Amino acid sequence: MTADFTHPGRETARDWAAAGPKRNLIDGQWVEAQSGRTLESLNPTTGKLLARISEADAGDVDVAVRAARRAFEAPTWSGISPHLRTRMLLEMAEAIDRHAAELAALETLDNGMPTWFSNAVIAMVGDTFRYYAGWCSKIFGTTTPTDASMFIFTLRDPVGVCGQIIPWNVPSLMAALKIATALACGNTVVLKPSELASLSTLRMAELIQDTDLPPGVLNVVTGYGSTVGAAISGHPEVDKVAFTGSTVVGKQILQASIETMKRVTLELGGKSPNIIFADADLDKAVVAAVNGFTRNSGQVCSAGTRVFVQEGIHDEVAGRIVEIASGQKVGDPFDPETKLGPVISARQLDRVMSYVDAGNAEGAELRTGGDRVEGPGFFVRPTVFAGVTNGMRIAREEIFGPVVSLIPFKDEDDAIFKANDTSYGLAAAVWSRDISRAHKVARAMKAGRIWVNTFGETDPVMPFGGFKQSGLGREFGAESVLAYTESKSVQVRF
Ligand code: NAD
Repeated sequence: MTADFTHPGRETARDWAAAGPKRNLIDGQWVEAQSGRTLESLNPTTGKLLARISEADAGDVDVAVRAARRAFEAPTWSGISPHLRTRMLLEMAEAIDRHAAELAALETLDNGMPTWFSNAVIAMVGDTFRYYAGWCSKIFGTTTPTDASMFIFTLRDPVGVCGQIIPWNVPSLMAALKIATALACGNTVVLKPSELASLSTLRMAELIQDTDLPPGVLNVVTGYGSTVGAAISGHPEVDKVAFTGSTVVGKQILQASIETMKRVTLELGGKSPNIIFADADLDKAVVAAVNGFTRNSGQVCSAGTRVFVQEGIHDEVAGRIVEIASGQKVGDPFDPETKLGPVISARQLDRVMSYVDAGNAEGAELRTGGDRVEGPGFFVRPTVFAGVTNGMRIAREEIFGPVVSLIPFKDEDDAIFKANDTSYGLAAAVWSRDISRAHKVARAMKAGRIWVNTFGETDPVMPFGGFKQSGLGREFGAESVLAYTESKSVQVRF
């Protein structure tokens, strides 16, 4: 797993990671945690130390929030011309593009994602900044018809200080989405990346701060969720919390917001259905189905982990999915041939293996995979279970690993019922050549993102978020702008 495959950003990324403990960005300065403590960030490919990062706590969060509040009130960011904000967000996008290879390699080192995926993710990071750069000058309210004695109009104000808490699975894109939207709308930010993968966010924050962003507009504080995350979500001076992560923690964030009635958006877990009808283009559907649950080793919130296959084609499709999945190369994420890198941690690997045990114990049929790859690092093979029913834990709970449940269905109604029979509602896909059926099923899905004859594609223009326990609110697209602004109506009596 350790052969030295070349990648244009690998050496720079490795040198940057190794160059001393990483600090927090607070009020425009790079500072150590007040306690002086650091924590280890491991390379999941080797299981060895990659970098040390600051282990901040509530005291550091308090300083960061106060800096963000000062910057917001000044107002050094919300008060400047929207055109200037556009130019600065475009500069951020360009800085990210210039360092794309380094950022992609950093993501691969820290998170373990194969370079085919990290390269694509960083391209979208730049596009996300460009997309929101365009929004800065297009955030406005409305005027309302009235009688001649008055004038009524609405404004959209920035929300204020935004606390942002993100997970480890696609850190650079999560950070880009949150930072770019908040800044485009004139807010200031205190962001906490995951303690398991903070490096790409910290490097991006360096590039962003270097565009001459006024101090305090963007603050990044690293550390554990129970300390730094909880301090952000409970801080009285934080006006909005945008959280991406597990449903369990999302509920805690919501509870912590009650005291000061913070605005809250939650992007949480999923158990997304991928429905393949007998009239689908099966060549495309089977390839997409495998990518849908193996991309990023299944550590994707919208992963297609429940594949519903119409009865007449079930055995054929199952066989083809097993064949493709078992042929996918698991290994060094810098190897261009690798499809699946490691999962993030030993703990995550144990979690995935415990679900393999649960599937076996509940009587599902293990068709391929189900085993970890020996050696250093946290590797698990693509795993396909057939003969799964919706009652089994592997069909109900988010595993966040490359494990799929194949479930047969009879007809449209049966597919719709089974696909929606879940506490989640993040994404869903339908494969059919019958356009009416595809529309009907898409409309019936209780999920925030639906794909027809494709799976897993994303674009900054498309709103993303969950029905049911997959979240609250939407990010990406225009809906994100609404979530980062407050509406204000003004009546002027002549
Ligand atoms: P997690 O909930 O364990 O952690 C997410 C973040 O919250 C981390 O930064 C963590 O340190 C912090 N945190 C933990 N406890 C906290 C607390 N008590 N208060 C405040 N913050 C706290 O999730 P994870 O394991 O990092 O990520 C995997 C999860 O994220 C999966 O459930 C996945 O579906 C979800 N996810 C959702 C989306 C989406 O857009 N819907 C995208 C990516 C990941």
